[in-house]
Amino acid sequence: MNDKLKELADLMFPNVTKTVSDYEKMYPERKLEDGARVTRFAPSPTGFVHMGSLLSALEDYKAARDTNGIFYLRIEDTDQKRSVENGITGILNDLKNFDITPDEGMINETDAIGEYGPYIQSKRQEIYHTFAKDLVLRGLAYPCFCTSVELDEIREIQELNKERIGYYGSFAKCRSLSIDEAINKIKAGCEFTVRLKSPGDFDKKITLHDEARGDIEFPENDLDVVIIKSTDKLPTYHFAHLVDDHLMHTTHVMRGEEWIASFPIHAQLFEVFGFELPKYVHLGVVMKIDEEGVRRKLSKRKDKEASVEFYHKEGIPKDAVKLYLMTIANSNFEEWLNNNPDKDLSEFKFDFKKISTSGSLFDVEKLFNISKNYLSKLSATEIYDNLLIWTKEFDPEFYNILENNKDYAISVFNIERGGEKPRKDYTSYSSIRNFVFYMFDELFENPDYEWNKITDKEEIATILNTYYEKYMVLDNKDEWFPKVKEMCDELGYASNIKEYKKNPDMYKGNVADVSGVIRVALTSKTNTPDLYEIMKLLGKDRIKERFDRVLKK
Ligand code: GLU
Repeated sequence: MNDKLKELADLMFPNVTKTVSDYEKMYPERKLEDGARVTRFAPSPTGFVHMGSLLSALEDYKAARDTNGIFYLRIEDTDQKRSVENGITGILNDLKNFDITPDEGMINETDAIGEYGPYIQSKRQEIYHTFAKDLVLRGLAYPCFCTSVELDEIREIQELNKERIGYYGSFAKCRSLSIDEAINKIKAGCEFTVRLKSPGDFDKKITLHDEARGDIEFPENDLDVVIIKSTDKLPTYHFAHLVDDHLMHTTHVMRGEEWIASFPIHAQLFEVFGFELPKYVHLGVVMKIDEEGVRRKLSKRKDKEASVEFYHKEGIPKDAVKLYLMTIANSNFEEWLNNNPDKDLSEFKFDFKKISTSGSLFDVEKLFNISKNYLSKLSATEIYDNLLIWTKEFDPEFYNILENNKDYAISVFNIERGGEKPRKDYTSYSSIRNFVFYMFDELFENPDYEWNKITDKEEIATILNTYYEKYMVLDNKDEWFPKVKEMCDELGYASNIKEYKKNPDMYKGNVADVSGVIRVALTSKTNTPDLYEIMKLLGKDRIKERFDRVLKK
C-alpha cells in the first residue's frame, strides 16, 4: 500500500477501524427465494407522506410482496435541514394507515427491526467513512478544500464560457493537489469535503438499463462528485445510496425520475467498488392540471389532495385510495380491476413495464368514483363499523347517535345495499351523514324542505292527511305503491305517467309529484333511496309526527 495515501486516509478518517469487507461480512447475502425482490422506501424524516411518496411506497411494497421479498424503511436524514421533530413517527403513521407495513427498518424515532441496520443514515457515519477511506486508499477519492466562493467562481467561469457546469477535468482544482499538499492542508486544519476521483470520460457513452424505461444512453460520468460533506461529515445521497443499497442487498432501487440524471454517477460508484449494480426503476411524476389548465407536478405545498391527511379527513377508505394509486402505478390495473372486481389487490402482479414513465395525472374525481364503488360493495355492518371509527374522530355528534342506535343504523345503511345494483351515493365516510341524516330524529330538527312540483300548502296538507288516514301501507312492499296510485285517482292526479304525458291538462299532476310530497315531508329531500324502505324504518308514529310537523307549518 502507498504509505503516503495511507497517511492521508488516516488523517481524513482517524476513527475508522474496520474495512469494507468487514462490513460485507456483517451484512451477508439475504437468504431469499430466487427472484425475490428487496425494495426500500427511503424518505427524509419530513413528518408526513404525500400522495406521490405514498404511491412509491405502495409500489415498493407491492414489488417486494409479489415475490415474497423484503420491503424495508430506511430514513435518509443526511440533509439535516429537511428533518423535523417526530418526522419518522409521522411517516410510520401514514404508512400504517394504508397497511403498508415494512418488514425491516425504523419502527419509531429511535428503534428498528431487521439485521441490516442501522436503518437511519445519521447512525451509519462510521460505515460511510470506512467506504470513503477505502477509496482514498486506492487513490479513487481525495479531499477537496475549495470553499463555496471558489466553487461559485468555477461555475461563473463555466457559465461565461458556455462550458458544462461541474467539478471535473481541469476545473477540479483539488484533484491535482499532491498527496503532501493535501496532508499539509489537513494538518493545518483546513476544512474539506471528500470527492470521488472519477475515472470516467465524458466523451464515452454508457448504456444503463431502467426496468421501466429500457436502455438509456448517457455520457460517462466524469464529475468528481462530493461523497462526504465537510460540515457534518455525512455522505451525499450518491454515496449513501451506494453504501446502503449494497450492504442492505437492495435488488431494486425504485425512486423518482429526478434521479435519472445521476444514474451514471451511481453506476460508476458501484463500478469503482466492484459491486453488482442493483436494478433501477425510475418512477414517473404525479401530475395535475391546475385551475389555469396547466399540467404541472402535484405539489405537496399547493394541492390539498396531495396530502395523505386529506383522505383521512374526508373519510375515503384506505383501500379505495390504494386501488386508485394502483391505477396510477400500472396502466393495466384498471382493466384488471374491472375484470376482477372481487379479487384482492394482492392477486394483481405489479409490472415495471406498465409504469407510466411520462408521468400520471392525479385525478381526484376518479379517486372519489373508485371510493363510491368500493363503498357500494361493503355490507351495512361494515359501513357502520368504519363510519363509527371515522365519526369518532371527526363527527362526535353523529358518532353518539350511531353508537346508541346500532341495529337501527345498520338497517338504514342496508337500504338498497347488496344485490345487483347497490346504491352508489356515498363517496366517503364524511358524505354519509348528508345522505341519511333524516333517518335520525336528532339530525332532523330543522330540515330545509325541498318542496318541488306541488308547493301549495293546502294541497300538501290534503295529500298528507289523505295518505295517512286512508292509503298508507307499511307491511307489504307490493301493495304500498298501488295504494298511492289509488289515492291519485281520488285526488285528481294521474296514476299513470304515460297517460299523464298524453293529457297533462286533465290532471293536477301525476303520481311522482304526489309521492314526492310524501318523500319531502318525511325526509326533506326530493331524492332518496326507496321510499317504502324509509317509511318502514321510520314507522307509523314517526311518520305521523313528521307529517304533523309539516301540517303545523
Ligand atoms: N431520500 C431520497 C428521496 O427522497 C430517496 C431516493 C431513493 O429512493 O433512492 O428522494
